[in-house]
Amino acid sequence: MPGLSQIYDALRTIRENGVPETPLVRSELSDRGAEVLLKLETLQPTGAFKLRGATNAIARLAPYQRERGVVCASTGNHGRAVAHAARAMGTRAIVCLSALVPDTKAKAIEALGAQVRRVGRSQDDAQREVERLVAENGMAAVPPFDDEDVIAGQGTIAIELLAARPDLEAIVVPLSGGGLMAGIAAAAKAMKPRIRMIGVSMDRGAAMAESLRAGRPVETEEVASLADSLGGGIGLRNRHTFALCRDLVDEVILVTEDEIYRGMRSLFHDDRLVAEGASATGHAALLAGKLELSGPTAFILSGRNVDMAQFAAVVAGEPVRVGDMSVGGQHEAPA
Ligand SMILES: *Cc1c(COP(=O)(O)O)cnc(C)c1O
Repeated sequence: MPGLSQIYDALRTIRENGVPETPLVRSELSDRGAEVLLKLETLQPTGAFKLRGATNAIARLAPYQRERGVVCASTGNHGRAVAHAARAMGTRAIVCLSALVPDTKAKAIEALGAQVRRVGRSQDDAQREVERLVAENGMAAVPPFDDEDVIAGQGTIAIELLAARPDLEAIVVPLSGGGLMAGIAAAAKAMKPRIRMIGVSMDRGAAMAESLRAGRPVETEEVASLADSLGGGIGLRNRHTFALCRDLVDEVILVTEDEIYRGMRSLFHDDRLVAEGASATGHAALLAGKLELSGPTAFILSGRNVDMAQFAAVVAGEPVRVGDMSVGGQHEAPA
């Protein structure tokens, strides 16, 4: 597992490569038992924390590898982070996308200087192209979470948090593949062993939460969610994040789509912050009475890359379609 010195090295590396420290601000939800502090990873240049891990991973490649370029298959925040970090470090990036990914997303990635390669009809097809480029062209794959350098990069958040507030009692982390959680937990528990690590996921299709319950990595069916950045599997051959989360996470809380909807509304109307569903899971858990605070607690606001039409509907208290469900809109208090 990444040790504290590796995570301090990552912090130096990402600073040298233009990844800023993000603010930690007091939430209006403070005083519901304890102070709540919000870590604004929403303010990273690509709108999400994933720039930390991608920057650290690319910076640590051998010079000959960086010359051949990097490749990944994510359409979301990781793809943007890899594109941005590669450009910042003068490396070529190819992001592989299936035909199902909308052109607007492909254009956003191209605008960051990466080459987009359209392959096949599914994320699996895109991943196979990544593996082909690694095998045939010697390009380096940058995985979204299950990689030591990526985990160490995400862990730099914990160093910033505990330097700003050594009195933190708990950290609440949106949980998907577990790179964010594993990195923060490894660093935070090394610095302060009795700090509580709390993961929050949606209650349907949360691969890490289900794997932790099963005691081994399991496959889950992917379901649409307001917290769309938390979808996707952890890999049946998971190497790092499953074991780290199993050993370091104190509690996992599951929230419903209605609770995430209310969390997004609270983040906007109470804290005046624009953030995506994944970032609102801490608010969701607290407002639903599922999270017990024992002292100063940090929530990681992991990203802000919302679908604007959906976000506008949520803050207006209108119903939104999430897969086959209609969420919100009936009993929303006027803002
Ligand atoms: C990727 C992502 C997460 C989850 O991170 P993992 O390392 O996969 O657990 C949470 N929020 C946002 C905004 C993300 O992009």
